Amino acid sequence: MEKRIHNFNAGPAALPMEVLEEAQKNLLNHKGQGLSVLEMSHRSKEYDAILKEAEKDMKELLGIPDNYTVMFLQGGATLQFAMVPLNLLPEGKSADYINTGVWATKAIEEAQKLGKTVKVIASSEDKAFTYIPKKFDISPDAAYLHITANNTIRGTEWQSFPDTGKVDLVCDMSSDFCSRPVDVKKFALIYAGAQKNVGPAGATIVIIRNDLLEKSPKNIPTMCNYKIMAKEPSLYNTPPCFTIYMIGLVLKWLKKIGGLAKMQEINVAKAKVLYDRLDKNDFYRGTVEKDSRSLMNIPFRLKSEELEEKFLKEAKANDMIGMKGHRSVGGIRASFYNAVSMESARALVAFMDEFEKKNS
Ligand SMILES: *Cc1c(COP(=O)(O)O)cnc(C)c1O
Repeated sequence: MEKRIHNFNAGPAALPMEVLEEAQKNLLNHKGQGLSVLEMSHRSKEYDAILKEAEKDMKELLGIPDNYTVMFLQGGATLQFAMVPLNLLPEGKSADYINTGVWATKAIEEAQKLGKTVKVIASSEDKAFTYIPKKFDISPDAAYLHITANNTIRGTEWQSFPDTGKVDLVCDMSSDFCSRPVDVKKFALIYAGAQKNVGPAGATIVIIRNDLLEKSPKNIPTMCNYKIMAKEPSLYNTPPCFTIYMIGLVLKWLKKIGGLAKMQEINVAKAKVLYDRLDKNDFYRGTVEKDSRSLMNIPFRLKSEELEEKFLKEAKANDMIGMKGHRSVGGIRASFYNAVSMESARALVAFMDEFEKKNS
């Protein structure tokens, strides 16, 4: 087998070995069709089968009700920061946002850039985004409430989602999508960049409740119009064909391991291995409040930046990569997405124990 390193990248990130092998096996000759998925027409029946299968598996895995549409779009989660208000926030209305970190801030700023009225009803900025706000009042007449399920940079995660009553809930689920079961009908719209948890870069999953499609104004760019994008989902123009194919393989893998409840169980066990280590003494220090801890991105600090640099360097020498904290916050961050194995989690903690012994 190929030599594989322990990949703790924040995104693009680790993919399941089985998925990579399957893609490799079929790369030159997809299922005897004599060509690669990379070379197929997106209008061919061979490709249509791949797309429809990915859609179907996603609906099945997440239990997406029939009155929702699943789309694979481009432009990243970042384009959704603009598309959501462009489509769903008409003039004269205001939308609520909860600010839990860098990505949430960008979502807010993008809406404001479009001249939209935004109300930040809660923020954890007072404590450097190290917790998920618990108290907030949703404006009863808000066009929607926007939240960020998992804060990739700070390592906080909503443990449960707020009840929004009649107000539509819009969620950036980029970095914990398919890491646990979610009750899709609580949401009006979910979006997620594929490259954190369900595939390579290049596609953004949008799950939208169909009645919202009627809100899209006519005078916005075609590629930003949910209604047009949903008419023939993922096929208005050329979609990111190969990325969607890879997402499809990841979804099959998720089904095979037992679905999202099982995936969550595995993710809880994996994260516990590292959190238990962080809680053991103060050589390593977790940076977020315990009841807001993310299962996906686990940031921590050492006593000095010099020691952190040494840690990263030695980790790399031990085949562990991707743990440099985001440039805006520094420190260490280990990302434990779905495809990161328990073996990698244990290897990291063993390395941390060893590093502590040598440096204290
Ligand atoms: C990575 C990330 C984004 C940005 O995603 P792009 O696909 O690079 O645009 C947005 N939100 C969250 C929560 C993320 O983790």
